[in-house]
Amino acid sequence: MTVPAIILTVVLAVLGMEAFAWWAHKYIMHGWGWGWHRDHHEPHDNVFEKNDLYAVTFGTIVFFLFLIGYLYSEALWWAALGITLYGLIYTVIHDGLVHQRYFRWVPKRGYAKRLVQAHKLHHATVGKEGGVSFGFVFAADPAQLKAELKRQREAGIALVRDSAGA
Ligand SMILES: [Zn+2]
Ligand SMILES: [Zn+2]
Repeated sequence: MTVPAIILTVVLAVLGMEAFAWWAHKYIMHGWGWGWHRDHHEPHDNVFEKNDLYAVTFGTIVFFLFLIGYLYSEALWWAALGITLYGLIYTVIHDGLVHQRYFRWVPKRGYAKRLVQAHKLHHATVGKEGGVSFGFVFAADPAQLKAELKRQREAGIALVRDSAGA
């Protein structure tokens, strides 16, 4: 593959993963897969969550993508690299920046602050119904998200915590 083709494949894989993550989070993790995701939405003192099984599952799938790519398709190998990059970006933002599982830094301004706010608002709903901000890297304006939470609460779609300010 040429260098531009490689770069394009990796970038598309990273962007595609944000779309896939949004979809999987909304329709699998908050759908039939809620059993594994639930403890991520409930307070606890454990180091690990059942929700981490999703990371293990996706990691295993990516391992096989690398393997199949290595044997049969260079493009698939580079796509697997893009997926891995997304996984790293995701874990730094979600597990690190937002949930402070391995570092503590509270951004005071800018896009990093918006990322934290947007995901905290994802955690503003109780249970699997409704909710906002299922993606991780592209964060909407928190004011918009609060308005949407307010709409969901009034429509009886979701149970929203009062701390959300919605
Ligand atoms: Zn969730
Ligand atoms: Zn979270």
